[in-house]
Amino acid sequence: MKNLFIKLLFSISVTSFILPDIAYGQLADREITPLPIEIPRLLKEKDTVVISFIGDVMQHGKQLKSALIPGADPDSADSYDYSHVFKYIGEQIGNSDITVANMEFPVGVPPYSGYPEFSAPVSIAEEAVRSGIDLFLIANNHLLDKGEKGIRRTIELYDSLGVNYTGAYRDSLEEKSENPKILVINGVKIAFLNFTYGTNGFPVPEPFVVNGMDSIEVKKAIRRGFERGAEIIIALPHWGEEYQLYPNEEQKKWAEMLKREGVRVIIGGHPHVPQTGETEYAEESLPQEKAIKNIVFYSLGNYISNQSEPDYTQLELLVTITLVRDNISGAIGLLPPKYEYLWCFKAGEFEKDYTVVPIDYFKNNPKAHKKVRHGQYGRMVKTYEYVKNLNLYKGLSHE
Ligand SMILES: [Zn+2]
Repeated sequence: MKNLFIKLLFSISVTSFILPDIAYGQLADREITPLPIEIPRLLKEKDTVVISFIGDVMQHGKQLKSALIPGADPDSADSYDYSHVFKYIGEQIGNSDITVANMEFPVGVPPYSGYPEFSAPVSIAEEAVRSGIDLFLIANNHLLDKGEKGIRRTIELYDSLGVNYTGAYRDSLEEKSENPKILVINGVKIAFLNFTYGTNGFPVPEPFVVNGMDSIEVKKAIRRGFERGAEIIIALPHWGEEYQLYPNEEQKKWAEMLKREGVRVIIGGHPHVPQTGETEYAEESLPQEKAIKNIVFYSLGNYISNQSEPDYTQLELLVTITLVRDNISGAIGLLPPKYEYLWCFKAGEFEKDYTVVPIDYFKNNPKAHKKVRHGQYGRMVKTYEYVKNLNLYKGLSHE
């Protein structure tokens, strides 16, 4: 299909269209210099973008202790081994164009600490990048746990890692230019908008900006996203009540407002447990990618943490959405989202260290449950069955 389009393009007029980035290889064979002009979407190959989301990457004191290499200096980031944190989700995120995670701590300020004031070595962020996490969300209630130094070092270190991050800025000028975070992925311009209900009472140090749940500012950011050409806006709120499987009225109100403003996908975090999700259809009779108006997952739960009370703080979601460009109208459609349950094991329960394993891993590896210790396998299955039977995600396919 692509070749046909390219031939058609050149048989009409080279000068009147923009060349799609995907076509450069073929153009080189024809010894034609690409021209910086626009191709009508009618002639463009159908674009698809697959985006995965994991929940809150937490770092409690016991996780720190477990990651510390025996005998190494606890104040040095190099002394921590986080290789176990993302090792079992490679297959799940391997086919995604981009994977998004909420990183719930400042980095780079020793001495490192767990709850209540988190401070993580940057090595956990390096491991996330190595493992395929492409976008960090940092507007959350723990970003300011180490004050001005913490937010400054976090921004500096994420910049030096070259990883995309969003939700906090050096000053209001940077906020205006970087919020929402717009990424062009496979030719689709996607805006990511991350904001938090609060920062645990710590004031945002001047001149830094942390996106808050301020409806005026959030609406402004949405409008900026559209003005800058975003074809879809994904909101990533840090909100809701801890340990509740169902969203509260405030979350629902906010979701409605975000949708009214044109946000099509909402993926939340903070409650430490998965919360309900829904897919809204404009018209059932249309093909799926034209019919889906909105996708909402109120909370994905923890990704990794030391929490185990209530039981479903160890159960969590990995959500994958697919955007698809309609090659006639150019509009961006959404395919039905996929979600998968994961389980967070503490140190010594499955591996030596804390790790997260998709529940399906045990279905596909029938002997793997023998490796699970301290009665945790039964607990995992019981919790998973309980939550699954609540039908929190009516109408969504479970993969
Ligand atoms: Zn939180």
